[in-house]
Amino acid sequence: MAIQLIKEWTAIHQFPAATQEKLVDLLAKLKNEKVDTLTILVMGKGGVGKSSTVNSIIGERVVTVSAFQSETPRPVMVSRTRSGFTLNIIDTPGLVEGGYVSDQVLDTIKSFLGRFLMKNTIDVLLYVDRLDAYRVDNLDKQVVKGITDSFGKEIWHKAMVVLTHAQLSPPDALSYEEFFSKRSESLLKCVRQGARISKKDLKNFAIPIALVENSGRCNKNDHDEKILPTGTPWIPNLVHTITDVALNGKSGILIDQKLIEGPNANDRGKIFIPLILAFQRWIKDDAAREAKPSWA
Ligand code: GDP
Ligand code: MG
Repeated sequence: MAIQLIKEWTAIHQFPAATQEKLVDLLAKLKNEKVDTLTILVMGKGGVGKSSTVNSIIGERVVTVSAFQSETPRPVMVSRTRSGFTLNIIDTPGLVEGGYVSDQVLDTIKSFLGRFLMKNTIDVLLYVDRLDAYRVDNLDKQVVKGITDSFGKEIWHKAMVVLTHAQLSPPDALSYEEFFSKRSESLLKCVRQGARISKKDLKNFAIPIALVENSGRCNKNDHDEKILPTGTPWIPNLVHTITDVALNGKSGILIDQKLIEGPNANDRGKIFIPLILAFQRWIKDDAAREAKPSWA
């Protein structure tokens, strides 16, 4: 089922009391700012922990998590309400297929948004990757570029990076903080390049990062909250950062016909098809002419 009925967010009571309190405060803050709906789009490569993160935020297992293959062939929206506030989270399939960024997956996400959330806004983009990766490569840049081409550069105004697998022991005698800062620096650089954010535009695109540890083996504090190696309870911290992005003063990405049908890498290719055909015909004509003796 692609879309689930809007349910009361009862699983919020599954969180330890200390976490619940912070979450309720954050929801109150949003309501204070007249935000009564938050639509969060989750994107990234496959297997990075997108679905697990959705489950962690909601507080129950609502979407399928898989160790080996993306079991989310289509986007899935989970909606929850709590005292007049609605949270929509859209989990999506991994954006890489067979070593390339899949325009088809990007199109599927857009048409899903068009079907179920027309005239709504994407308020926050969670761009998910793993903390425990040691390199960014061209494919990462292509993923960001794919998102940018499909949703517009402005989506990065409403974006944050989520790094999963945050409970790790850094290699090479690096401290946790050093490792985190190196990893986030190189990933942010990759995002800026893929999104074509220029140096002078940097301030305009402050993209925050939040760490996540979805594993059941995540350490806990005395209040039973799951914590990062730094001691920070990460669920309230993640939701806090989401709230910051939602309230950062930039407008959300409107889901309208223009966005849904707008250019992406796919369509831009199509523009050239008539040109290519014309070019081929021209070459053929030319070849036919060449075949005749010049005096004919
Ligand atoms: P998706 O393809 O991006 O949706 O990734 P999933 O959420 O399905 O996760 C892929 C695999 O990574 C599953 O086996 C998850 O249990 C595991 N996983 C996800 N997040 C974390 C995390 O933060 N820590 C650890 N240790 N494993 C994770
Ligand atoms: Mg998934």
